[in-house]
Amino acid sequence: MAEHEHVKVAVVGSGFGGLGAAVRLRREGITDFVVLERAGSVGGTWRDNSYPGCACDVPSHLYSFSFAPHPDWPRTFSGQPHIRAYLERVTDTFGLRPHLRFDSEVKRMTWDAEEFRWEIETVRGTLTADVVVSATGPLSDPKIPDIPGLDTFPGKVFHSARWDHDYDLTGKRVAMIGTGASAIQIVPSIQPKVGRLTLFQRTPAWVMPRVDREISGVERALHRALPVTAKLRRGVLWGIRELQVQAFTKHPGELGFVEQLAKRNMARAIKDPALRAKLTPDYRIGCKRILLSNSYYPALARPNVDVVAAGLSEVRGSTLVAADGSEAEVDAIVFGTGFHVTDMPIAERVVGADGRTLAETWKGGMEALRGASAAGFPNWMTIIGPNTGLGNSSMILMIESQLNYMADYLRQLRVLGGKVALDARPAAVAAWNERVQRRMERTVWNTGGCTSWYLDPSGRNTTVWPGTTAEFRRATRQVDLAEYTVLRPSAERSATAAPAQVGA
Ligand SMILES: Cc1cc2nc3c(=O)[nH]c(=O)nc-3n(C[C@H](O)[C@H](O)[C@H](O)COP(=O)(O)OP(=O)(O)OC[C@H]3O[C@@H](n4cnc5c(N)ncnc54)[C@H](O)[C@@H]3O)c2cc1C
Repeated sequence: MAEHEHVKVAVVGSGFGGLGAAVRLRREGITDFVVLERAGSVGGTWRDNSYPGCACDVPSHLYSFSFAPHPDWPRTFSGQPHIRAYLERVTDTFGLRPHLRFDSEVKRMTWDAEEFRWEIETVRGTLTADVVVSATGPLSDPKIPDIPGLDTFPGKVFHSARWDHDYDLTGKRVAMIGTGASAIQIVPSIQPKVGRLTLFQRTPAWVMPRVDREISGVERALHRALPVTAKLRRGVLWGIRELQVQAFTKHPGELGFVEQLAKRNMARAIKDPALRAKLTPDYRIGCKRILLSNSYYPALARPNVDVVAAGLSEVRGSTLVAADGSEAEVDAIVFGTGFHVTDMPIAERVVGADGRTLAETWKGGMEALRGASAAGFPNWMTIIGPNTGLGNSSMILMIESQLNYMADYLRQLRVLGGKVALDARPAAVAAWNERVQRRMERTVWNTGGCTSWYLDPSGRNTTVWPGTTAEFRRATRQVDLAEYTVLRPSAERSATAAPAQVGA
């Protein structure tokens, strides 16, 4: 990092969010920016999750950037290597390499109210930026539960997002902890090779069939020759998911028939009534993410698999003890236990105008104006911030909406001119969140009778967007300056005798 380096914009993270921000900045004519990434390559989620069977669960033609269509997706739900390669290609196509700073983990970002800029400490040095776009990902810091005795385990332990490819599972006794989106992809991928697989299931998932198939050469050629056909395909995939939103957000009762389909999916593969009972959820479908798999249930029915219908509660050497008292001797433990979502670690590292960290500000729950701006953190915004997650569609749609908002935010700063910062008004943040939380009350995520990672420890849903992606697109088209305080440095204010808070 050059000494005293200053940039207009510092983007943190190089997953879909950070790379998308970089493309958008260049399109807005802004080239004075860097992308700070703690790892050694781009890709975020799709670099870190390389576990066997890892793939998207939203079809590839929708789970990709609208501005970077890829006619050659190999499958309807493409695998991690293809998605990672896609992001590498986006990086090259849009000339992002010169902006990337790898191995540059951000340790702290502090708003400098004198200089009107962010001071960003990274492991490689310090730089300053007028604006920070934080795209560190909602699912990027793996969570391993604090299990008593785990440190006494003599075997191999790893998290699904940090797969140890040097460790050969062949013939081993393996415990899979968790039954979320990663676990249901891992289980059928490793079951044929392991000696014994014990699945520790705290809560069973609803699993629907996955309409996964190879995209034929003819389809791909058509998409290459006539790009409008790929657009049409994307449009249909998007429209179907938009139509489902009402059931999730307003009429969870309508999801009952989907439960019947999921039960039929299970009954086809699981003939043992006792196992079926263990695997049948007791909450409304959709309350937790609906999982898609054709191979999960068949794998669980294999003779080398045990399903323990209780969470892991203790480890005694190589013996794993479940909450129901059952025990299993294993050689390796794979945690599919998710990520720090409502307690995202980056929040500890952002220090706002009053010297408080974002984590302190969010102690009562995460909240941000239009999912982007937190009060007291001028010229700082986040991509995939609070209440921008989706239960049923592509996060890329939400990211692109947030990029529209980011572009307008930067335009507004340019128009205002000089040393200037936008700080979300606490009242605007509160009003936005009240609206979001009011709409949340009827949703399946809040009423479906489950606890999920969508909810924070107080039971508030601070992660999911309770509407259609089109509604979010409209809400983030433009920055409403009335929702912000326009700040100027005090020296400039006294020189021009301007009011302390222009637009206040
Ligand atoms: C296994 C898996 C499958 C998924 N499948 C789907 C799917 O099918 N459809 C869907 O819509 N969503 C899916 N998701 C959600 C997915 O996370 C988002 O769709 C999207 O990839 C998030 O992009 P992002 O750029 O916001 O975050 P990430 O991809 O997580 O990227 C964040 C980046 O920030 C970097 N970073 C973090 N902290 C720092 C720091 N302090 N300093 C510097 N760099 C830092 C990280 O190293 C990372 O590269 C999936 C998630 C997982 C884990």
